Amino acid sequence: MDFGSAMEVYKEILLVYLDDSRRFVNTQCQGLEPWQIIAVTMGFTLLAVWLRGFLFQQDSLKSRIKKQIFKIIRKIPFIGATIQAQLNKALDDMASSLFTLKDGMSYTCALPVQGLLQSEVLEELKQYSAMGEVQWEQGRVSGAVYSGDETLTKLLVKVYGDFAWSNPLHPDIFPGVRKMEAEVVRMACTLFHGGPQSCGTVTSGGTESILMACKAYRDLARERGIKHPEILAPISVHAAFDKAAHYFGMKIIHIPLNPTTMQVDVKAMRSAISKNTAMLVCSAPQFPHGAMDPVQEVAKLAVRYNIPFHVDACLGGFLIVFMEKANYPLAPFDFRVKGVTSISADTHKYGFAPKGSSVVLYSDKSYRHYQFFVAPDWQGGIYASPSIAGSRPGGIIAACWATMMHMGEKGYVEATRKIIKTARFIEAEVRKVDGLFVFGKPEVSVVALGSKIFDIYRLSNALTSRGWNLNTLQFPSSIHICITLLHTKPGVADRFVKDVRESTAVIMKNPKEKTTGMGAIYGMAQSIPDRSMVTEISQGFLDCLYSTDLPSTENKHMNGTSKTH
Ligand SMILES: *Cc1c(COP(=O)(O)O)cnc(C)c1O
Repeated sequence: MDFGSAMEVYKEILLVYLDDSRRFVNTQCQGLEPWQIIAVTMGFTLLAVWLRGFLFQQDSLKSRIKKQIFKIIRKIPFIGATIQAQLNKALDDMASSLFTLKDGMSYTCALPVQGLLQSEVLEELKQYSAMGEVQWEQGRVSGAVYSGDETLTKLLVKVYGDFAWSNPLHPDIFPGVRKMEAEVVRMACTLFHGGPQSCGTVTSGGTESILMACKAYRDLARERGIKHPEILAPISVHAAFDKAAHYFGMKIIHIPLNPTTMQVDVKAMRSAISKNTAMLVCSAPQFPHGAMDPVQEVAKLAVRYNIPFHVDACLGGFLIVFMEKANYPLAPFDFRVKGVTSISADTHKYGFAPKGSSVVLYSDKSYRHYQFFVAPDWQGGIYASPSIAGSRPGGIIAACWATMMHMGEKGYVEATRKIIKTARFIEAEVRKVDGLFVFGKPEVSVVALGSKIFDIYRLSNALTSRGWNLNTLQFPSSIHICITLLHTKPGVADRFVKDVRESTAVIMKNPKEKTTGMGAIYGMAQSIPDRSMVTEISQGFLDCLYSTDLPSTENKHMNGTSKTH
């Protein structure tokens, strides 16, 4: 039988089938009055609309069912109360152990009636600056402080002072700050090889840069008729994208990683693209394991499906742009790659500017327009603002500008060379340690460690007891060190490698021993199936940040008596 006649047969069958269905429906409707048919049809239509709304929400059906089940479990009389009691105990333990003040210290809870003299304020301040015990100046901390250079601090303090009262919301009053912000953006565009139409804004930090890009693409998607805009991002992407989805009513779809390279799985990204996709995301590099996502491959998808594509270079932006000149070449990741429409890069990380500054850049002004906010009818006047904040700190913009001008290309290239050299040294040395492995191929400044033999959080505990403060990661359990200028000082990296080697050797003598302390808490937090409990405990932690309660008098009394004995 040839193809044509086969098609004929199928057509025949289809027609018979359609005719049968028609007859079936008609017999079913026999004896029904027209209004009944109309009512049933309307009923089914409404049901279908409801069902669609129920099935397709920001939170997936599976996750909603899971949440509902846990909610029900917590309402079961005995079980619910037991869970709540455990949770309350965890919250209380946390409240009493976190942020305890040293003896004799108390909280100020109301304004001093008579203001202090400036000399008195400075005297009081000494207590506050002496409170921390972690030796970040000695390079004991992963990330957090990226430069710490004292001569740079002096410059920043002077520049901030000169512009302390300035506010870019009033460019007519502070034209100098306007010029500095425009120049910071332009210098960043040049670093990332933006074309003549490239542009951007200065924001308060990486999170705001990311929020702004997501907001812009959400509004663009809406204009394109997308009602439920989706962000497609690697599972390793910074939580700021989850925050953006949460704030802006978008849905974030997390794309899995290639487990060997820790880079996003491009095939999985492609199959997740739908008519709702508002933006694609890659990190350059990502925070957990320091891997560079395959920007070029994802950019091809962005071009093929005409979807905006954001590259999050918040962490390493001010390293990767200098790596080629520092003799550590990378695959292209910036506006030179066709399809990349925006980039976020933190001046307050490896840009070495003070905290509170970052840039979000676009390949074209048309994208930036979707970021802006304008209230044309406000009684206070036509209100136009580029980002989330209204008033903004001109002093921080000035300090950021001053840092970039002072560092210059040579300064950044030199810093990058030192940092990458140190990171490569640490990577090579820890790879040699029996029992450990390094995640993926760290190309920039982060080295993430895991173990197939013991619980890696035990190593985290051991390093903490030796004065280190590393990042703890989950799913899978791992820890990382993010190398900054402070680790490039003589002896710091050697000390780190030595401490890792010695601590691991001790652990390897008893690889199956139980994890204790903070490590155990991290392990447990990962294994709790009801994530709402983790959320609740984390909210308790945030409450603790704002606590101005002293430990209860009962506890104080007990401490007092134990001391006299
Ligand atoms: C630090 C970081 C951000 C944003 O962080 P902020 O703390 O808001 O400056 C975004 N993405 C990555 C990969 C980061 O490491």
